[in-house]
Amino acid sequence: MQTMIHLAFVDDWEVRGNGTGDPRVLQFEPMRKLVKIFNKQGLRGSFNAEVMQQLAYRSHQERFPELKAIADEWEQVVMDSFRQGHDIQLHLHPQWLGASYQGDGNWKLGGDWSILNYPPQQIRAMLVAGRQYLETLLRRIDPAYACVSFRSGSWCAAPSDSLMSILSELGFVFDMSIVAGVRYDTPQVKLDYVPCQEPFLPYYPDMKDARRVSRSAEPIVCIPTNTFPRPRIALVRAAFRKIARKLGKRSTVAMPAASRGRIGAEWINKGESGAVGTAKKLLKGYLVRRTEIADLAQMDYAMMRQMMVNIRRQAAKSGLPNVPVILENHTKDIHDFSDIERFVADVAHSPDVKTVTLTEIAHGLRSGYFKARAA
Ligand SMILES: [Zn+2]
Repeated sequence: MQTMIHLAFVDDWEVRGNGTGDPRVLQFEPMRKLVKIFNKQGLRGSFNAEVMQQLAYRSHQERFPELKAIADEWEQVVMDSFRQGHDIQLHLHPQWLGASYQGDGNWKLGGDWSILNYPPQQIRAMLVAGRQYLETLLRRIDPAYACVSFRSGSWCAAPSDSLMSILSELGFVFDMSIVAGVRYDTPQVKLDYVPCQEPFLPYYPDMKDARRVSRSAEPIVCIPTNTFPRPRIALVRAAFRKIARKLGKRSTVAMPAASRGRIGAEWINKGESGAVGTAKKLLKGYLVRRTEIADLAQMDYAMMRQMMVNIRRQAAKSGLPNVPVILENHTKDIHDFSDIERFVADVAHSPDVKTVTLTEIAHGLRSGYFKARAA
């Protein structure tokens, strides 16, 4: 029996984590492009719309009409994509809580980046507000629309005494914030997903620490966003390019592209910035294979293929007839769509891969078509 891979093309749709960036450039334009690519191959993608940003724009729009124009366009783009069959689900960056607008497109964000650092009532209030906003908007098009999946900002979902319980109470069927093997120690985010017990399959989470697999069925499921060991050659190419750029000799160094994305400086772990940090990282890459999040914006075509080899291997190992797999992407980080376009075409022609939306995965979990495991 061959395992059917049900692949979800998921995108965290937002401006930069510190609130900078023009939504028209980082979100609206690339979303339209991506939707076109999906449509051409007859696939449907899913966008995790970051709603805290949109709510901040809305709450300041009376005093600043330019914000209203952008917030209106945000809704238009979301509704247009949804009308064409693509899914929209909830993503929250709590750092937007209480944001103040400084004019000229500049925001000052004061909130903590991790939802884990907020009291339960505040977590619930943010989730309720985000869900209500999306459901009100999209039920105008499809009265049956519901927020069924959650992706937490900066991946922060565990450990937490309350987050999983609140999500399940609010009707979320699954969370996809776990990225097994990843660790962040930055000024904004501290997160340790190295101890995650299930890197690939849907599972019932320990309700107080979703990194762990529960012994019994729970009211919510976690599906890890796919991660894979980064191929060494890609790491070497990426580091080489970075070092070359730092030395200012980029044009004299001809190396094939590996990491294409424009990942923000805020995601550099402590001790990994600067030329020394880059060299250290390179060395570490030889010693331990680094975990890579399956984020298409950060990959070239060769790496995407490598990722699929790994997905197929894990799917075969599961012995299950059907397995949902969550990919990641960030429209704000894409500066060249050609590799994604090539990869999407590959997937559309793969007999062992079906593409699904997040809503379809939620239906599959509810009906038992997709199995979640317990410990
Ligand atoms: Zn995000």
